[in-house]
Amino acid sequence: MDKNELFRNIPKVDVLLERESMRALIDRYGRGLVTETVREQTGRLRETIREAEDAAAAAQAIDGLEQAVADALADLCAPKVRKVINATGTVLHTNLGRAPISRAQAAHLADIVTGYSNLEYDLENGRRGERYAHFEKLLCRLTGAEAAMVVNNNAAAVLLVLSTIASGGEVLTSRGELVEIGGKFRVPDVCQQSGATLREVGTTNKTHFSDYEEAITDQTKAILKVHTSNYRIVGFTESVEASELTELAHGRGIPVIEDLGSGVLVDLEKYGLSHEPTVQESIRAGIDVVCFSGDKLLGGPQAGIILGRKELIARMKRHPLTRALRVDKFTVTALELVLLEYLRPERIAETVPVLRMISEKSGAARARAEELAAMLRASCRRADISVGPCQSQVGGGSLPLERLESAAVIIDPWEMSADALEHAMLRLAVPIVPRVAEDKVLLDVRTIDREEFELTARMLGEVLG
Ligand SMILES: *Cc1c(COP(=O)(O)O)cnc(C)c1O
Repeated sequence: MDKNELFRNIPKVDVLLERESMRALIDRYGRGLVTETVREQTGRLRETIREAEDAAAAAQAIDGLEQAVADALADLCAPKVRKVINATGTVLHTNLGRAPISRAQAAHLADIVTGYSNLEYDLENGRRGERYAHFEKLLCRLTGAEAAMVVNNNAAAVLLVLSTIASGGEVLTSRGELVEIGGKFRVPDVCQQSGATLREVGTTNKTHFSDYEEAITDQTKAILKVHTSNYRIVGFTESVEASELTELAHGRGIPVIEDLGSGVLVDLEKYGLSHEPTVQESIRAGIDVVCFSGDKLLGGPQAGIILGRKELIARMKRHPLTRALRVDKFTVTALELVLLEYLRPERIAETVPVLRMISEKSGAARARAEELAAMLRASCRRADISVGPCQSQVGGGSLPLERLESAAVIIDPWEMSADALEHAMLRLAVPIVPRVAEDKVLLDVRTIDREEFELTARMLGEVLG
């Protein structure tokens, strides 16, 4: 094989750029980008020829050059953050973006962020305002707290709260509450970052009132309660009620901080789930500062909501870290919209997608699964399609023991394994993320909106049609 001959067959960059196909690409992507891509791809082609073992493969690579340039440009210019269909049934799937917001909320959000807004402008008095003002009153009304602010996420909230209140002193926390959340958030590490010293009290399974009482010294700047949101200690256990803890702490002039994790504003027992401590309960128990996530059970954007006593919140708003942790207009706008829905709690299971999904009864899920299965039978001829019961999870480190009775469309492909089908589904134009069990692919309908059924059937038809 004459490699020099092959190298000579690679078209020159400026010659290539004159070809019809390249002119079309220049119209679409601009000359600079196309020229750069042509250079990259001809460089790769040289590499391919250098390594090629037979002339046919090398010649084929040369013939494919124009297509390779087009493909590389299409890939480069396509957004990498894409819509996916969540067929896992896990409602707060951290890898899939946690809580979705509703279309109505998204439409309002688009309207605000495509222009200017009064994010930090007080329209009544025509002067600089505060970005928290938009929802501070609302949060206080919904929860009974005196004051509120919001930062980037709940991890940031815990850091800011501890940095403001406990830096340079000691924080008491029960050994049963030294939580690690996914993504390297560990209570002891955050505490250290804040400049406070963690003082562990009690044991893993039991912490008594007297453990806290005896640990308080003149170094103690706060007591921290952490909701063990993503695990449960069961059996021979004891912890101290928030109201007892606040009585003890306030008697000694110490504030109590609570990291609630999920932070629900409505009683989940209404939807047949087990009780999850609500924000209102914490405030009523006298907790001085409560913080929780915006995008877990609340169903809003990623945010860390901080509520509590006016004087403490005012100190946090002035803390230098606040500027580094502040929320932008996307978050402020979306959060206010979601919070407004909570003014009508009786409708919340319709207006907040997360609550709609976790409250769907198994019978309703079954009916929707039958509907999706019928659509799939029409679009996917090369698989057996049935409907069966399954269990979904809340996810996002919330309600770890809870299983929601749900329904799944079960796909048993004829010509490939379930793993191969899953692999193909992740590569669709709109990827579908399923569950795989016993060599079958399961689509748990709990997390698939009815509006996505047609798209799901069409996408799967591309693999199994
Ligand atoms: C999830 C969680 C956090 C972290 O919240 P993010 O909003 O993800 O930063 C902190 N503490 C607890 C108890 C949690 O459950």
